[in-house]
Amino acid sequence: MSSAAIGILAGLAGHACWRMGLMPDVAAVLPLSFPAALTSPDPITAAAGLVAYALALSLTVNRFGLRRSWRWIVASVVLVSSICFVSLQFFGVDLLLIALLFSGSLSLLLIQINRLWTLDRQLARTLFSSSSGNVDSGIGANERLMSGLKLLNTVLPLSEAVVFGCDDSNSLDPVARFKGTTPNLQDPRRNSVWREGVTLCRQAAASGKLVSQTTPGENSATVAVPLLHETETAGVLLIRLASEFSVDDTPLLEAVGSQFARNLERESFTKNSARSRSLSFFSQSGSKRKLDALNVLKAVTVEQRCEASTLTHIDDGVAIAYLDGTLALVNPALLSFAALTSEQVSTMDLFDLLNRFRTDVFDEPRIAVRRVLQGGVEYEGELNFEAKNQILNLRISLLRERESNDANEPLGIALYVKDLTATKEYEKLKSDMISLMSHELRTPLTSINGFAELLTADETIPAQAREFVSIIANESQRMSRMINTFLSVTQLQRKDKQEVLKIPLRLDEVVRESIASMQPVAKKKRIRLIEQPAHRIPPVAADKSLITQAVKNLVNNAIKYSPERTTVTVSTALEAEAVRVCVEDRGFGIPAEARERVWDKFYRVVREGQEKDEESTGLGLSFVREVVEQHGGRVDLDSVEGRGSKFSFTLPRL
Ligand code: ADP
Repeated sequence: MSSAAIGILAGLAGHACWRMGLMPDVAAVLPLSFPAALTSPDPITAAAGLVAYALALSLTVNRFGLRRSWRWIVASVVLVSSICFVSLQFFGVDLLLIALLFSGSLSLLLIQINRLWTLDRQLARTLFSSSSGNVDSGIGANERLMSGLKLLNTVLPLSEAVVFGCDDSNSLDPVARFKGTTPNLQDPRRNSVWREGVTLCRQAAASGKLVSQTTPGENSATVAVPLLHETETAGVLLIRLASEFSVDDTPLLEAVGSQFARNLERESFTKNSARSRSLSFFSQSGSKRKLDALNVLKAVTVEQRCEASTLTHIDDGVAIAYLDGTLALVNPALLSFAALTSEQVSTMDLFDLLNRFRTDVFDEPRIAVRRVLQGGVEYEGELNFEAKNQILNLRISLLRERESNDANEPLGIALYVKDLTATKEYEKLKSDMISLMSHELRTPLTSINGFAELLTADETIPAQAREFVSIIANESQRMSRMINTFLSVTQLQRKDKQEVLKIPLRLDEVVRESIASMQPVAKKKRIRLIEQPAHRIPPVAADKSLITQAVKNLVNNAIKYSPERTTVTVSTALEAEAVRVCVEDRGFGIPAEARERVWDKFYRVVREGQEKDEESTGLGLSFVREVVEQHGGRVDLDSVEGRGSKFSFTLPRL
């Protein structure tokens, strides 16, 4: 109701009471002597005066609140009383002091109730919406209770367990029941045991403490655990054990009991929240429901603490900061990476923590955080702390409300730190080992090959033996070619981008030279190898021998994997910021499933009806990709099986 309506109503109520003679006589109330005959204003003026006063008070309180306007209200009462008093004393006119004070007070009371009611409705709405949002977890309360009982059964030998909910009248209702593996259904004492159990439950609910009873002569016990959420009893868990009860299990039972209590709170809240809430301010059940909602929220907070505590057990470092830079959580792993204690970190903010990870790569934490906040893009960096012989991977990302939510509001900033030291050491060891092995293999291979070639030239050896020797010579040559390619790929992988020697290079010239040197190979298969140059190709910065080798590998493959009398075209083209070299053939093509993998080391496509190629190592394309990526370019493949393939790469133009 609006404040004006309340003021008018209060004024009219005062007027009605006066007219009906319900107001006490002013002469009787004030212990003073007045002139004998008192006159009163006419009813309309009286009504106008009463309404005006009540309205003035209601509007003032509504606008400024009772706390800020009480001085004005007191002053107005004093003023009105003085005027009335003067008029009574000197003019014998009763200005309806009692009715004025009554209307004013009624107006103040109603407006205050109205304000409280509005606030209460807001409170109820917020409470219900935030707790309903958290209740909807997908798993029903009953399922949760059942799974809790199953969990309990792993620790205690339950022969039966019942969860009772406590309603408003403190009566116990069974809400979930679990039967152990050996329930004693035929037990003649079952009913009396049940009654005893219920009595135990009442005791437990009343005292708020666990109550247990061991059955004399039998190896079993009955335990009633009050399900306490904070200090309120939400229900009781009654269990019958197939063994004696040990007090050591009490803390566990109490902890499981509080989780059950949270589930019961949630259940009772979901059941009740459907009822109307408009009159909740005046109703007891309305207030009870608000209490339920608060309990649900508290339960959610406890469960969220449980979620957050999982982070303390993981080996990777995790920290979460709110959007004001305060640290909400720093797990022990992160503390140890930052070489901090939990006391030290308690006075730190996000930037203090990030400063502990400063290196030459991560020298300005502020810039990284700004980028994460502004663009929402994750920052990722590999930090090498040589003094500590530690390599860490640091990720900074923005935490958002919910991935699927449209609003998707940022909530905080998360840091993840992963220790890469062992992985990096292992990778280095692996590649060192491989290089060493390959180097060591080259020396004996050279002598095998040398001697085998010497023997092939020896006329005294029988023809068949000479044939074998020539096979040895060819195979050893193939093996050393393979090792050489492998070594060059591994060496390239180990190099940093800066280490490749780059000079301005015209790719169309490289293509021309490569084609010229590959023509004899193409002619052998009667393949037409042609160049399709573009005009005005800008230079790129590249290592000439590496790029030439890469182009030759592509052309060689195009010839190798095409039937006779086909065409292989090599073209160069200028794109927005890059120059593209493209080798196109009308060969066998590459099946879709192999297209990604052809660039991997040692990967070869198996084709039916095509005998194993002696020269094939599966290293050619991985060399091409390595070279191109070292130069900041990228490789592409387009192919239709049976029709041909189009291998290409781009290099950034100068
Ligand atoms: P290699 O040719 O030594 O086997 P590569 O890494 O150069 O190794 O090639 C990997 C695989 O990709 C080869 O086994 C081959 O089957 C396939 N491939 C490469 N280029 C072509 C091409 N132009 N047409 C069809 N298949 C190709």
